[in-house]
Amino acid sequence: MFIAAGVVITPVLLSPFPRFRAPLSTVVEAQDGSLLGARIADDGQWRFPGFGQIPEKFEKALLAFEDRYFYIHPGINPVSVFRAVIQNIKAGEIVSGGSTITMQVARISRGSSSRTYPGKIVEMLSALKMELFRSKRSILKIYSANAPFGGNIVGLEAATWRYLGKSSEDITWAEAAALAVLPNSPALVFPGKNQEILKTRRNDLLRKLFEREYFDSITLVLALDEPLPGEPKPLPVKASHLTDYFYKNNKGEMIRTTIDPVIQERAVEIVNARQKDLSGNFINNSACIIIKVETGEVLAYVGNSRTEDKTEHGGDVDIIRSLRSTGSILKPLLYAGMQQSGDILPNTLIADVPSRFPGFSPKNFDQSFSGAVPASHALSQSLNIPAVKMLQIYSPEKLLGLFHNVGFTTFSKPADHYGLSLILGGGETSLWELAGVYASLSRVLNTYNEEKKYFRGDYHPPVVVSQNATAPEKIEDTDPPLSAASIWLTCEALKKVNRPEGEAGWQYFSSSPDLAWKTGTSFGFRDAWAVGTTPGYVIGVWAGNADGEGRPGLTGIAAAAPILFDLVSMMNPSGWFSEPSEEMTMIKVCSLSGFRAGPDCPDTEEIPACVNGLRSESCPYHKMIHLDKSRTRQVNADCVSPAEIRNQVWFVLPPLMEYFYRQKHPEYRVLPPFAPGCSSDRSIPVMEFVYPTPGIKIFIPRDQTGQPTRIIAEVAHRNPSGKIFWHLDEEYKGTTKHIHQTEILADAGDHVLTVVDEDGNSLRCFFYIIGK
Ligand SMILES: [Zn+2]
Repeated sequence: MFIAAGVVITPVLLSPFPRFRAPLSTVVEAQDGSLLGARIADDGQWRFPGFGQIPEKFEKALLAFEDRYFYIHPGINPVSVFRAVIQNIKAGEIVSGGSTITMQVARISRGSSSRTYPGKIVEMLSALKMELFRSKRSILKIYSANAPFGGNIVGLEAATWRYLGKSSEDITWAEAAALAVLPNSPALVFPGKNQEILKTRRNDLLRKLFEREYFDSITLVLALDEPLPGEPKPLPVKASHLTDYFYKNNKGEMIRTTIDPVIQERAVEIVNARQKDLSGNFINNSACIIIKVETGEVLAYVGNSRTEDKTEHGGDVDIIRSLRSTGSILKPLLYAGMQQSGDILPNTLIADVPSRFPGFSPKNFDQSFSGAVPASHALSQSLNIPAVKMLQIYSPEKLLGLFHNVGFTTFSKPADHYGLSLILGGGETSLWELAGVYASLSRVLNTYNEEKKYFRGDYHPPVVVSQNATAPEKIEDTDPPLSAASIWLTCEALKKVNRPEGEAGWQYFSSSPDLAWKTGTSFGFRDAWAVGTTPGYVIGVWAGNADGEGRPGLTGIAAAAPILFDLVSMMNPSGWFSEPSEEMTMIKVCSLSGFRAGPDCPDTEEIPACVNGLRSESCPYHKMIHLDKSRTRQVNADCVSPAEIRNQVWFVLPPLMEYFYRQKHPEYRVLPPFAPGCSSDRSIPVMEFVYPTPGIKIFIPRDQTGQPTRIIAEVAHRNPSGKIFWHLDEEYKGTTKHIHQTEILADAGDHVLTVVDEDGNSLRCFFYIIGK
């Protein structure tokens, strides 16, 4: 008895267990399970990973066609085996296998289609073994995932997408029947080949299903009338760069992403439509990403615009993950950092004057100077010189630390590698990180407004793979990189409508919903950026050439902002960030200078600001001066009696700022001259060094002949028509008039430059020349 059982069971246990190790296609799905794109498996087969649910109609059709007693037999069906043996003996060869679904799974797993008796016996033993260890349902799933459906199409899911252009979830009876008959002779009959045989088989099967009362006669008539599936259809290509990304990083997997298929499709249309305009100016690539602030989920991922030939003009490059020079796109972080530290208030005047730094002369985009601009305007108009002046105060080290704390990983060099150019695009990042950081900051502000707390977990990169995992534990952050108040103030500054005149782009804004937005243009017009945030969404855009070629007109405002605003009107976000008032304080500021109001400031206002703003400097520009009775000349107690003196508050900018500020502010009044016999007030400077700046260390390069190049010293004077006498290390060097520039040549070491004007005012500047 035991021996007899052993004779049966031992071969079963020794037989090979059906396993599937063939390479799989990479399949990328949208958040609703629809197909965004797929890449073929390494063996050239369309074999989708994963075993989803088997649609009921397909299961019924398959079992009716292939294996009616599937749920009853133990892996082999003795009746059909017996029938097959009789048939084969009559025919003199194997014409029928009498195979069950389980036996077919065993055969497919062996990769063999040979019909021999030993092969059949192994299949039977394997089938019996499989039935011992697997449920009927999972055997059916393995079959559906691995059955051949003609050509290089393997598995039901690949078959429905290729033949029907849709998921297997919603197939009709006619479609289920057509698909169910395919694995039986996939080389002979498949859509597009031997259509008549396919039609006969499908219709026979439909009638069989009707006889089993799976559906009524009207359904049968309609099903028989349905057209057959035709030639394989191309798979959807809705997010090709994202599909490439997963093909490289998650090959052979089925990835459910966070992409919203409708938003994705419209974002692709918008980018491609705008790309047509850009291509006219030989700007060949553009990209965008849309992120939901609350979760960081990526709703749209357009890695590049579509050109006729994908590889032409670098169209295959995934720009979203590429490192590019940041241009001005990170200035908002400096503004936020300085609000938080109390270095400046929202509208503090910042110098906007010609400035030279060693080896580095920043210029504003329009090459002009405003003399002095409120910090918020400098930000919204993206002025470069004020940004560098601000970074000088804040320091590159501190800004770099802030970049790291808010989530940038791409600024990996030490601060002195970037220096002050850090704020003008001296470093690189990707659209992915940039949009992720903007989303993190908006999230921090939203969370604070809801919970009055900060959580470290609110800073995270974008999320593109759909996660079912529970949210991580919320750990309170007692020392957040940026306060909600500083983020809110920055968003307010970036919402301003007053954008540079004469530049295209500002007009988009007037009709748009509330949006904090910033553009950026990298050195040499190589990268155009635009990023915008609302409480709900962050949209990031890049335009340029993937190969890095610069183009005139390739600016954030001209090339990237139009795409941003098209995307904004598509998303149509509503609402605006609440003011985190618990974290803010009202500060009395000078209306004209934006500094904390001093005792002499005539017009003041209360504005919300960060608490540290209380420590900021008070207005240095409103000064009490002494005038004669006519108020047209300055006087002092040396030359007139105190009764004759009229005190008046005057707005006095330093000479260099004044020179440029006057040109844009006709209401600015220069200080009246001193009355004859009255000496000038030495506390208000009349001259200022443009270059060198006091304490600067200068490295002097050598020219082609090996001679050290000369440095150009420059001074601004309140009265440009006056003369200035120049002295280097107490030695007279020359006189200048109107334009106060002179060449100086000095050896390595410490030096002092002294300038004296006709009224005897003098100014000294110590500097150091670095040797080799
Ligand atoms: Zn003031």
